[in-house]
Amino acid sequence: LVVDVPAAHLHHELELELDRFVDHHCHGLDVSDLDRPAFEALMSEADGPSPLGTTAFDSMLGLAVRRWCAPVLGLPPLASPDDYVARRRELGGAEASRRLVASAGISTFLVDTGISSKRVGSPHDVAMLAGGTAHEIVRLERLAEDLLDESVEPDQFGARFEERLRVSEAIGAKSIAAYRVGLDLPGVKPSARALEVAVSQLGTEADGGHRLAHPVVHAWLAWTAVEIGMPLQFHAGYGDKDLDLRRCDPLRLTAFLEATRTRGVPIVLLHNYPFHRNAAYLAQVFDHVFIDIGLATHNAGALSDSILRESLELAPFGKLLFATDAYGLAEHYVLGALLFRRALTRVLGSLLVAGEMGADDALRLGRLIGRENAERVYAIGSP
Ligand SMILES: [Zn+2]
Repeated sequence: LVVDVPAAHLHHELELELDRFVDHHCHGLDVSDLDRPAFEALMSEADGPSPLGTTAFDSMLGLAVRRWCAPVLGLPPLASPDDYVARRRELGGAEASRRLVASAGISTFLVDTGISSKRVGSPHDVAMLAGGTAHEIVRLERLAEDLLDESVEPDQFGARFEERLRVSEAIGAKSIAAYRVGLDLPGVKPSARALEVAVSQLGTEADGGHRLAHPVVHAWLAWTAVEIGMPLQFHAGYGDKDLDLRRCDPLRLTAFLEATRTRGVPIVLLHNYPFHRNAAYLAQVFDHVFIDIGLATHNAGALSDSILRESLELAPFGKLLFATDAYGLAEHYVLGALLFRRALTRVLGSLLVAGEMGADDALRLGRLIGRENAERVYAIGSP
């Protein structure tokens, strides 16, 4: 087979196509002047560097920070960890974060607003850092916990929650059932009575606040989002050790997916690693299921190409979305975008060179995965 378009030319064209990503799942940042322990504590899903290990920089993520983020801050590639953190403090956390996020090539941010307020949390703040646009994704459990903190009566909870979700300006909802009870959600919506009983059983934390963890309530919340017609994200797979990874395989959602498949509401499985092949299978067999490989991409650094390749084995090209799952550090935006862009360019480029797809195919698939799939799922137009 003759390949008309040289690979280098395709790479250039693809990079242009992939320069305006829609990041469909990300979080706020800490823009304070972080010292090295504080920086390392935010690097990975661990609580911080292990006292028995070495440093969080001794990882694929650490190498990627030194290789790719150091030049954005004016340092040579592979600058030492101490030099990197010193340069970041010299610039100031806010300015360093601004430079980093602005270099990521992301134009639209869908921000999960469910985590703490002392960081830069609002969609607007994140978009301001990069000069992009932003939308909110509302976390179901956060909304529910706010209601519980207001001491709503158990028999009022359902109606009040539904009302709040309906008036929310968010363009999608997110469930963290995986974190609290695992992904074995039922194929039928719990009844109003079952919900009331469950809510009346919920206790409070030591500080008097609520931390929702009840299988009936998580199921009811997710079903309610689907009934309202909000695109619904599920945390699946990889996350910090608050979750039990054994209960987070997206295949456990099969009954829920089967029961919701004719509703016309997109279900988006986030992260998925190391179950990304299982997630890709679900995206193939269920019309309404979409997936991403955020979080694992930047953690796996230069070894992340294989995660994308394995995801594309089964996932239809219209079902894979781009996400960084950036949280805390602006570096996550840079690396999530750069490594995904590079992996996609390599995979599509190799298929083109092998004569397995044409240049038009490669560019079109790049556009789909980089932004158009997200625009379709969340019904947002190109800015
Ligand atoms: Zn996340």
